[in-house]
Amino acid sequence: MEVEKPGGTGKGLTMEESAEKLWEIIRRSKRIVFFGGAGVSTASGIPDFRSETGLFSGEEDGLSPEMILSRSFFYLQPERFYNFYRKHMLHPGAKPNAAHRYLYELEKQDKLRGIVTQNIDGLHRQAGNIRVYELHGNVNENYCMECNASYPMEKILQTQGIPRCECGGAIKPNVVLYGEPLEKYVCIGARREIAGADTLIVAGTSLTVEPAASFTEDFRGKNLVVINRSPTPANERATMVIHGDVVEVFSRLMEDRP
Ligand SMILES: [Zn+2]
Repeated sequence: MEVEKPGGTGKGLTMEESAEKLWEIIRRSKRIVFFGGAGVSTASGIPDFRSETGLFSGEEDGLSPEMILSRSFFYLQPERFYNFYRKHMLHPGAKPNAAHRYLYELEKQDKLRGIVTQNIDGLHRQAGNIRVYELHGNVNENYCMECNASYPMEKILQTQGIPRCECGGAIKPNVVLYGEPLEKYVCIGARREIAGADTLIVAGTSLTVEPAASFTEDFRGKNLVVINRSPTPANERATMVIHGDVVEVFSRLMEDRP
């Protein structure tokens, strides 16, 4: 049995060999689904708020970010919610990186069936992808809780305190807060794509956030590829594991084979 080198790329392969093998899998696949997490966006300057060094290890005013970003806190203390939210969750200058761009290329080639993401930054849509299932919502979508009018992220950034609609109603971001369920139809679509895929690439996520993480268990296809710096619960079932950074891996695929 081959041993996975800690910090290496898995199964004793170099990054170059891993990229080559992944390229072969992608070349032979017709219905790829990409399931991604925070590690896809860190190279775009968006901190991984669940990692050890990320936002969630800190505290704000003695409260944990999980408490501040919860449904009950939003309704009880909306001003404090928005102070934190503007400061830590909105990154208006963030741009898609090589991972986003590569997935856009795969969608254009009609190889990629869909992207299922835990990220709320909207960068996959910004890169041009259309079939994106944003399990936790999108910071670019905000709506009035009274009249349902929609507003872009700029509306939140350009206001102070509680952002308000022209009708006077309070505006809520279309992101899934702690204590809120995931959007039903987004989940149904995501699970359908995963179940129908021939290749599932799980990347930049440690698969610890439920219920999203369990979606990968619906996969019945041929190739389950995991690209992540740390082990995930899917590694045991995976046909290929790359212990590395998804942006680095996809950059290599783009460079070698435009
Ligand atoms: Zn309104």
